[in-house]
Formats: sequence, structure tokens, C-alpha cells
Amino acid sequence: MADCLYTENSYLKEFDAKVTSAKGKYIILDKTSFYPNSGGVEWDTGKISNRKDGKVYNVIYVGKFEGDISHEIDKEGLNAGDEVHCVIDWERRYKLMRYHTAAHLISGIFNRKYNLLITGNQLTPDKGRIDLNMEKFDIDFIKKIIDEANEFINKDLSVDIYYKDIEEAKKDPSLFKLAVGFPHEVKNLRIVDIRGFDAQADGGCHVKSLKEIGKITFLEAINKGKNNRRIYFILED
Ligand SMILES: [Zn+2]
Repeated sequence: MADCLYTENSYLKEFDAKVTSAKGKYIILDKTSFYPNSGGVEWDTGKISNRKDGKVYNVIYVGKFEGDISHEIDKEGLNAGDEVHCVIDWERRYKLMRYHTAAHLISGIFNRKYNLLITGNQLTPDKGRIDLNMEKFDIDFIKKIIDEANEFINKDLSVDIYYKDIEEAKKDPSLFKLAVGFPHEVKNLRIVDIRGFDAQADGGCHVKSLKEIGKITFLEAINKGKNNRRIYFILED
């Protein structure tokens, strides 16, 4: 499996790599920092250029298929063995990072403070969605949680990433609240820790401190039937 550069450094904007497989418009690299559509977080876009002839290819979709991160480009032309330079669309990625950390923060409040179960999330560069299991459909309560999240942002807690031995981690079920179907066969588990508040097993990209999220604004809440509530929020700079 290719080296996953974004797990070590979410702020890496460009890198060099080698094409290990090219099937038409679907490219696999020996290492990549393009985040694949996964865990309810949308994929990165950007550019891949061939170092030999300077030709530039737009990355339009990134997904994970049978363990490999596959980059869909806008035209054919790259071949296995090509040395390439890759640039992430940073504006899009940074928004996704801010939304991802914001979703952990909001979920952490629902979960740790009010013992409510998060059932899913969908994060795009424009909007965040969190699904939760809550008996009463109480919009004022949801708004209160968003206010509390903004108070946390004002405290500007750091967001730390480190690894924990899997056997050690399994003793703390709170680490797996957001990680549905997280691969448990790994030896070391990547932890995203909003310092002093909420730690989760997570493979995604996050900002380094809560201030970077900006301000969270409640957009709407939808009643999806029996105990299922869907919350939408946006971020302001
Ligand atoms: Zn996450």
C-alpha cells in the first residue's frame, strides 16, 4: 500500500511521487497526500504534472479501492513509472479540514456532555452534516450545542495527532465513537485529540488548533423520523 502523506502532515500542499499503476484515467502513486472520499469527508482535488513533458492533469476524484488510493484524472496520458509532481487544491482541502475538526468538536459535545449517539456525518467544503440519535427534536438545544462549540473555539484548544497501541486503545471505547468500521487489525491506531476534551481514532485531515475552524453557524435541523435528527452547519472565517 502507498505511503499516506496526509496522515503525517495535513498541511502538506505539494509532493513528488511515482506512478505505480495507470489504468486509463485512474492513477495509483507510490505515495500520496490526496485524501480519498471516506469517513463522510469529501475527497481532495488538485493537479498532477508529468516531470518529463510538463503535461498537467486535473485530479477530479479520489477514492479508496481495495486498499489503494486511486486518483481519477481528467484525461489519459500518464503511465506506470512516470515521475510526477502533485499539488493539492489547498483552498478546498483546508475547508474540509476545518469542517472535519468542527464535526469532531460538535459530536464530542453531544457525546461526552449529553451522552447522545452520533450515527453519521457528511462534510463538504460548503456545509457540514451530523446525524444523531436524539429522542426529542429540540432545535433550541441543538443551537445551544453550537454555541458551546463556539465557546470551545474561543478557548483555542490544540488538536494533536499521535499513535496509540491498539490493545491499549481498545480499553477506551470512547475513542471509537465516530469510527464506524474502523480497521482494528492495525497495530498502532492514529488518534486525533482535541486536547483535554475529545480523542477519536481517525485517519483524516484536521486543523492544528480550534481557532482555525472560525465560527460555526447553525443552518438547519431536520427530523428524519424516529430518534433520527440531522443537523446542518456552516463555517464562517
Ligand atoms: Zn473524523
